[in-house]
Amino acid sequence: MFETLSDRLTSVFSGLRSKGRLSDADIDATAREIRIALLEADVALPVVRAFIARVKERARGEEVSRALNPAQQVVKIVNEELIEILGGETRRIRFAKTPPTVIMLAGLQGAGKTTLAGKLATWLVAQRNAPLLVAADLQRPNAVTQLQVLGERAGVAVFAPEPGNGVGDPVQVARDSIEHARRANHDVVIIDTAGRLGIDEEMMRQAADIRDAVRPDEILFVVDAMIGQDAVNTAQAFADGVGFDGVVLTKLDGDARGGAALSIRHITERPIMFASTGEKLDDFDVFHPDRMAGRILDMGDILTLIEQAERTFDAEDAARMAGKLASGDDFTLDDFLEQMMMVRKLGPIGNLLGMMPGMGQMRDQISNIDDKDLDRVAAIIRSMTPGERQDPKIINGSRRARIAAGSGTQIGDVSGLVTRFFEARKMMKQMSAGGGLPGMGGLPG
Ligand code: GDP
Repeated sequence: MFETLSDRLTSVFSGLRSKGRLSDADIDATAREIRIALLEADVALPVVRAFIARVKERARGEEVSRALNPAQQVVKIVNEELIEILGGETRRIRFAKTPPTVIMLAGLQGAGKTTLAGKLATWLVAQRNAPLLVAADLQRPNAVTQLQVLGERAGVAVFAPEPGNGVGDPVQVARDSIEHARRANHDVVIIDTAGRLGIDEEMMRQAADIRDAVRPDEILFVVDAMIGQDAVNTAQAFADGVGFDGVVLTKLDGDARGGAALSIRHITERPIMFASTGEKLDDFDVFHPDRMAGRILDMGDILTLIEQAERTFDAEDAARMAGKLASGDDFTLDDFLEQMMMVRKLGPIGNLLGMMPGMGQMRDQISNIDDKDLDRVAAIIRSMTPGERQDPKIINGSRRARIAAGSGTQIGDVSGLVTRFFEARKMMKQMSAGGGLPGMGGLPG
């Protein structure tokens, strides 16, 4: 996601590396380039204007730290302003004092509401809640069945109108579901409502009727990030027609530009609460403005990486991995191999590597890595002696030939792996030495 913007911003910043200090003309030129990058990313014009004004003002202002070089200063300001535009603080669900907490989903047909209902329920179960899914989308043929299938996969109960009772009244279904949740001890109720292909008065009226009948604790507006600025227009229509407390961005995996994500908070003044990034039930997470900004600036997303790792492995493994990542110093080829095998368990390799600092630049190579490459790397490392794994500097020409023969690979593969390992280790050191701005260690200080 956000590849285009990431690439543009990275090139703007690398143009600043050679500057000793920034003149007003430099700041203007940089601001102009950032403006173009944001407009190309399909960010709404008022948002672009506000953003650029803030960046310029701060870059010229006295607050600029003498400790940072110009490129670092600009990255720092842009990073902070991106976080701001994405909503600042992470906004979490507000649970009701007396359960059940009622969460209502609203949005256009195809936005990904039903899928999201399943994901949200799965996520809540992982947080030790006992959610109930409610099928109040009685408009779209199959929506009820789709939710039932998702509920089954997620292991979550679904409340739906009895089959054979005609079309049914979604308002009544929603109302009854709250009663049912109380009786069956569900602490969260997720109500999936009907969408339409476009903004439609009847859809708004129905959503408003459900809202008035169940008085939700949170109304979440679900929107497809791939529709870009149209997301902003749709959001405004929903804000007027039903009102909502937070936004869920779906299909971020397919959103190369990022216009919706960067505009919607500023325009609607409502926080983005969750992000949905694929078709699987666990392609879903709380939206963290700071981490998203970090990803846009290609500073990596170690926090998300470690959190995902924690979900997959036990806490001890994850803590050890985090420690190694942070230090870089005593990181050996054994750790490299172990980590690679861990990473492999986490899911599609490209997704994961894309979250690591500095990896954005290597995106094309990354998308070519597949499981076979990993197998080859593992075979090479396993053909090394413990001494070689501990201290790869000793791997000379004859050792390389032996390792290649032992692993059924070419000498070039062995050399390539050792080089990559040293690069990875260097990157880790830079990250831990650089403190606040990982990935920027290569800049003149
Ligand atoms: P609804 O009409 O709002 O309930 O939308 P659905 O939940 O039926 O989703 C519409 C389509 O989008 C389905 O094919 C989903 O599989 C797909 N979809 C939903 N969320 C995502 C996502 O985050 N990423 C991707 N790639 N596809 C998604």
